[in-house]
Amino acid sequence: METRVNRLMVVGAGQMGAGIAQVAAVAGLEVILTDVAQAFLERGTAAIEASLARAVEKGRLTQEAKTAAGRLLRPTLGLGEAAGCDVVIEAVVEQASVKRELFTQLDASCPAHTILASNTSSLPITELAAATKRPDRFIGMHFMNPVPVMQLVEIIRGLETSDATYQTTAALAERLGKTPVEVNDYPGFVSNRVLMPMLNEAAFCVMEGVAAPEAVDSVMKLGMNHPMGPLALADLIGLDTCLAIMEVLQQGLGDDKYRPCPLLKKMVAAGRLGRKSGRGFYTYT
Ligand code: NAD
Repeated sequence: METRVNRLMVVGAGQMGAGIAQVAAVAGLEVILTDVAQAFLERGTAAIEASLARAVEKGRLTQEAKTAAGRLLRPTLGLGEAAGCDVVIEAVVEQASVKRELFTQLDASCPAHTILASNTSSLPITELAAATKRPDRFIGMHFMNPVPVMQLVEIIRGLETSDATYQTTAALAERLGKTPVEVNDYPGFVSNRVLMPMLNEAAFCVMEGVAAPEAVDSVMKLGMNHPMGPLALADLIGLDTCLAIMEVLQQGLGDDKYRPCPLLKKMVAAGRLGRKSGRGFYTYT
């Protein structure tokens, strides 16, 4: 049976955490947004304010709804308020040790009914759940970027995740205006297991001289109706992130068909990380 969620904590006020906090506040939930330093919290709340202002400008949100969302959102440092939350969604850096330590702390501070959810893109949910004493109330809630725009939430069940936890989490995703899709915990889940090998193969096409990046992207946009070519998408995600996910797939599934493209490795080693560093398969000014 699902439990109604009244108060939510989002840990990590970066790109993803701010987006999740925004959609939750707009949906009428009380949201506590937390990070490790005031400057990160301020950057996150400024991003939310700018995004909501754009939505009002474009007529997708009323000024009243924006004000109401602002009232429901409470930025705060530390995990002190976790004790009053029904669900905590973690969206901190993609490092297993950082996430595990955070979940051990959350597990100690939250009441028994609180569900702990991770927005990880690639770390095994079952392993993160094992850092707590509540693996049945632990789940993956994988939002897509940018959160306010993208429809999907991939809901990942760890080995011990209970049906009630799944139902509460799926209902929460729906309240946020998203479509939950249930998957089980295997490397890359579904999203990155299907997407990343395609981006990696596009990199192989460039490395082997099959075609230039623009040509590879044109083939996939014009021929397959993809809104964005795979190499432009890899640049957007970050080539370091793409490489890290390919390594998770190769190691986790033990199959060299997931080997990262040597060109991708070389570009990451050279600091060509895509948009965020100004250069990847394309150059950004
Ligand atoms: P980001 O770097 O923009 O934000 C991470 C935030 O977490 C930072 O503000 C940082 O200060 C904070 N943080 C780090 N350690 C913390 C701690 N112990 N307690 C509280 N806050 C802490 O990263 P992001 O792109 O928002 O990614 C966050 C998570 O979402 C990652 O697990 C990532 O894999 C996942 N994800 C990212 C995308 C994407 O496209 N960026 C998509 C889906 C999932």
